[in-house]
Amino acid sequence: MQRGSSERELAAGWEAEAVAVAEAPAAAAVAAAAEPVGVDSGAAGEPERKAPEEQSKERARAQPRAAEEGDALVTPRPPPTLPLAKPQPARVRGLCPHRKPRSKGRGCRRSSGRSADEYCSQRRVTVDSSKARTSLDALKISIRQLKWKEFPFGRRLPCDIYWHGVSFHDNDIFSGQVNKFPGMTEMVRKITLSRAVRIMQNLFPEEYNFYPRSWILPDEFQLFVAQVRMVKDGDPSWKPTFIVKPDSGCQGDGIYLIKDPSDIRLAGTLQSRPAVVQEYICKPLLIDKLKFDIRLYVLLKSLDPLEIYIAKDGLSRFCTEPYQEPSPKNLHHTFMHLTNYSLNIHSGNFVHSDSTSTGSKRTFSSILCRLSSKGVDIKKVWSDIISLVIKTVIALTPELKVFYQSDIPAGRPGPTCFQILGFDILLMKNLKPILLEVNANPSMRIEHEQELSPGVFENVPSLVDEEVKVAVIRDTLRLMDPLKNKRENHFPDIYVDRKHRFPPVSDRMSSSVLQLSKLFVARSQKLKQPAVKEEPSDSEPASASDANPNPEAHLPSICLKQVFPKYAKQFNYLRLVDRMANLFIRFLGIKGTMKLGPTGFRTFIRNCKLSSSSLSMAAVDILYIDITRRWNSMTLDQRDSGMCLQGFVEAFFYLAQRKFKMLPLHEQVASLVDLCEYHLSLLDEKRLVCGRSGTSGGRAPDSGTPQEAAASAPLAQGTPPACTNSAHKVSNSRHALS
Ligand code: ADP
Repeated sequence: MQRGSSERELAAGWEAEAVAVAEAPAAAAVAAAAEPVGVDSGAAGEPERKAPEEQSKERARAQPRAAEEGDALVTPRPPPTLPLAKPQPARVRGLCPHRKPRSKGRGCRRSSGRSADEYCSQRRVTVDSSKARTSLDALKISIRQLKWKEFPFGRRLPCDIYWHGVSFHDNDIFSGQVNKFPGMTEMVRKITLSRAVRIMQNLFPEEYNFYPRSWILPDEFQLFVAQVRMVKDGDPSWKPTFIVKPDSGCQGDGIYLIKDPSDIRLAGTLQSRPAVVQEYICKPLLIDKLKFDIRLYVLLKSLDPLEIYIAKDGLSRFCTEPYQEPSPKNLHHTFMHLTNYSLNIHSGNFVHSDSTSTGSKRTFSSILCRLSSKGVDIKKVWSDIISLVIKTVIALTPELKVFYQSDIPAGRPGPTCFQILGFDILLMKNLKPILLEVNANPSMRIEHEQELSPGVFENVPSLVDEEVKVAVIRDTLRLMDPLKNKRENHFPDIYVDRKHRFPPVSDRMSSSVLQLSKLFVARSQKLKQPAVKEEPSDSEPASASDANPNPEAHLPSICLKQVFPKYAKQFNYLRLVDRMANLFIRFLGIKGTMKLGPTGFRTFIRNCKLSSSSLSMAAVDILYIDITRRWNSMTLDQRDSGMCLQGFVEAFFYLAQRKFKMLPLHEQVASLVDLCEYHLSLLDEKRLVCGRSGTSGGRAPDSGTPQEAAASAPLAQGTPPACTNSAHKVSNSRHALS
């Protein structure tokens, strides 16, 4: 793929960061420089087993893969074979019976004559950690470092932040911030992710060539067979390998490699267990002859407006058997082909290391450092990775918005959301990053199991995990700090000063290993302290000594780097489906639904002036029925009837192709989106005028049924003209951080 000028700019922008990250672990760099470095490439592979995984249902109506990574490690697991994880019973929705909508102003309740500003500048941020599960240890350390207040058993009064280990599943949180988005678990399932990326690949094939070609089973089995046959006929020397991944699996569960479509284990399993079959990347970059992947942590800080941060360091997980290109002989060698920590930990070759730059799990910065010492252009590697992350999030956001407006409808009290995502990325031999998957619940464990004697395991701290994960959680909290803006406004000088008081990033990072080993000692002592009891006041102020106007003064610089909207200019043109989702949401009509009814679709056609002599309303109805029927037969989710977002996108593509012939697809679609937004903005303006003159009684001039009126009445709900809709607007204000 040729890099456009935008990506060159991005590369330049990331240059400094990449260098800083690579320079970070000074100790690692020294060690790496002393060792012989083997950066070579290899060939292909095979699958293996996975341990029982907790499959909690995010919502009773869906069947998401909601397990928190690493849960399976709670109990020792059997040695690797090719297991099938049984779905676990649905989790009972956690109840916090006493939470009530926060009354206006409670967050800044005054006491003893202090002003609201003073009070907010001194009170501590409260965090409900009662559902943090395996991320609890890292969360506790983070809260302690921030000098915030933890509520490990939940709280009668509202907290500022709710930290959930698994998924967004509380309808009883009405305020504050939750670290999960509704629908994220569904969105990153293998099939949904593949579908979302495929839409983008149809529009922007060059930009989205970082995701292996994938087919969805069982629906696309025939297509898979036909396409493979076609390519093979054209090029008999092509000897591909494919990887089959169950949709609901994780940690390598049920994954296997095949050389031919006929090897797919169809018998009875696909209907019950849908899967994705994907081109296998046969030539990964190897280090020490081993395949490895990269786990990067990405913070989706806000959906609308879109805000994305990437952690400057991540993890690299290594296979434990030297890599060879896939052949019938080695296809089943799990330890050669699958990089999952949860699998390789069971290999006799797994190396636990106290160093972040050696062993079977290392920091990504140590890998960059090593590559850099071999002359690799790590700036380009970084900028390609950033680009992959932004593009992937852009593919996910349209449907996430639909979930969001359904779960937290505009006008009802609800929390705002943020989420840490785990991106699994493979570097090819030519250093091109490939997206393997996105985890909605990346493991935040900071310890690993050690076998003391046969069958006897103990959890011991893992330095590499702690170094990376505590920083990610702590700095996520810092970015989400609800009181930060108040403090910054109140003590602006201190915050300006701070920038100058801190040493350069590279200096600070080089001492991180030392700091973390100290933290280990402190942590193991402090974790043993009794849990904090619930306290009567929800906004207990910090003590006088804690009342530092700049409570972050003792902390290192934030490890999360903003990439969006920072690079919005380079990537905004890709957000076409996002704009389609805004249209879709506008015409959904009834709040809480995720599917468009026939009237809503007709209203969309009418309000956007898309019908014509060549596209009658009868033809529109047939289009709606055709597409809706097909999508409903493909998706498991039968909770609402009507057209899902993907169906709407398909219909939109069809309409765009009819209307703007002779253009590339993305231009056709962009033209149609522009046209729709234009007509809707005219309609909004008309409504505004009519509303002011009081002649239309609040109904759109061209609206027919009440539902049509509702869909075309965004201004009455406070929506600005053009480009947005009511749900969009409200979610904007919800997500906007104070
Ligand atoms: P899971 O959620 O079960 O971990 P992944 O999609 O992450 O599933 O795949 C598991 C492992 O298989 C990855 O960590 C990677 O090592 C390997 N893998 C997955 N997809 C591919 C691919 N297309 N090419 C090469 N290796 C892959």
